[in-house]
Amino acid sequence: MRVKDWVENRIRQDEIDRYKETGEQDFIDDELIEGYLDEMSEPSAQYVRQIIAKSLRIETLSLRETAALLHVKDPLLIAEMEEAAIRIKKFVYDNRIVTFAPLYLSSKCVNSCKYCSFRSENGEMERRIVPPEELKREVQTLAGGIGHKRLIVVYGEHPDSDVDYIVDTVKEIYDSTFTTKKGSGQIRRVNINAAPMAIDDLKRLKEVGIGTYQVFQETYHKKTYRQVHPQNTLKGNYDWRLYTMHRAFDAGIDDVGIGALFGLYDWRFEVMGLISHTHELERKFGVGPHTISFPRLEPASNAPLATDSKYLVSDDEFKHAVLTLRLAVPYTGMILTAREDASLRRRILPLGITQTDASTKIGLGAYSRGSEDQEVERQQFVIGDSRSLDEVVREMAEMGFITSFCTAGYRCGRTGNKIMDMLKCGREGTFCKLNAIITYREWLDDFASEETRKSAEPLIRREIDEVKEQNPGMYDMLMDYYEKTSQGSRDLYF
Ligand code: SAM
Ligand code: SF4
Repeated sequence: MRVKDWVENRIRQDEIDRYKETGEQDFIDDELIEGYLDEMSEPSAQYVRQIIAKSLRIETLSLRETAALLHVKDPLLIAEMEEAAIRIKKFVYDNRIVTFAPLYLSSKCVNSCKYCSFRSENGEMERRIVPPEELKREVQTLAGGIGHKRLIVVYGEHPDSDVDYIVDTVKEIYDSTFTTKKGSGQIRRVNINAAPMAIDDLKRLKEVGIGTYQVFQETYHKKTYRQVHPQNTLKGNYDWRLYTMHRAFDAGIDDVGIGALFGLYDWRFEVMGLISHTHELERKFGVGPHTISFPRLEPASNAPLATDSKYLVSDDEFKHAVLTLRLAVPYTGMILTAREDASLRRRILPLGITQTDASTKIGLGAYSRGSEDQEVERQQFVIGDSRSLDEVVREMAEMGFITSFCTAGYRCGRTGNKIMDMLKCGREGTFCKLNAIITYREWLDDFASEETRKSAEPLIRREIDEVKEQNPGMYDMLMDYYEKTSQGSRDLYF
């Protein structure tokens, strides 16, 4: 009964209607999207090159331009898109990749999404929420043992993991500190992935200091959305989900993460949906998404759609989608997750990715249990890459990427349009480069294996030399913080 009442009172129709400008119509225009995808099915090389030039000026592309990029087939033009993606990433984010870990805290869910093991119809799933003592152990392993500084905490939609539980767990995570080899370890940015909420609840998330609020639309295609999200469930309401980010902005959360679950419907349509969403946020709030995610469907126990869908996306299509997104929204953060296997991650990472997870476990309580194998029957889906953070940091160093553990941005008020403007003109990089160096030093001293440290030292020296050359005014201060960090000071940032 309690669950039923809770479900009935979740959706506030007025917090959907107020954002619709033209009566019933929302901002995802299926006909317009399909029209552009048809019209641009064979774009000329000249038009594609014009579009690439626009991306390089760090301007968001139009839907028509995005549709054109989605249809490029000529390997030469694809190579030009790749080169542009690498240049854009270098200009906006330099050679930094931010890392994080997902932390699953609940497997209870009132919805029944056909692709997810947590769906309520799956009677074989163990249902629980992580209690405070176990949460402490999870954070101890993540922050004190592995060395993560950022989490994306993931919640099912259920009264037992509602906003009160989210607020309590976020507080608990921020409050925990652990002793490490040379200093202390702590989670400094808690992003969350949770169901859509009303503005009052979102205000509470803002107050407790969450970083990014992430909600994926799953599919922007309405007909498919209705098919995969039973209409008698909360998640069945497309509009409640579509306008979540509008409510988040109105609640004061200005780092929002959008995403689509690739494999439910045509991948080109989903990219167009993500760009339509970006345009809407830019137009209404003057700021686009802080991050875009593009998870692909992975096998999930007792969720046959995850493997049977006729829209499953091949590796090459996936790469094309990522490339197009990079060019279409040049300033946004792009998240590649451990759903993908190591070899694909190596291929995709250089094409403009800014964030990736490592040491990933998605079973409840799995970090502190130290389980080596995936617990397929107890987790939401199966992941493709379970390598440790140490291995991933080492591989990235060998590829020339510095792993950034920086969490300074939102703590210094560099969020929303403040950070967007800095990113667009390449200025955010000034702070981020310095913070990346300091936090890399911190992590290497506290957590890295000898082998990883060896791969990373030449990179960190190169980064310091670059600061000396390109930003001499900050060099002395950087070295001051660097020395202090080497001697055990922690959490120094610019
Ligand atoms: N219950 C919340 C919701 O649906 O918004 C929390 C998020 S859910 C636990 C996290 C995300 O995982 C979903 O938004 C979906 O995109 C993704 N997901 C679900 N099933 C998946 C699968 N089989 N393979 C890959 N990703 C999946
Ligand atoms: Fe629940 Fe989210 Fe899984 Fe859907 S995707 S069943 S809402 S946990």
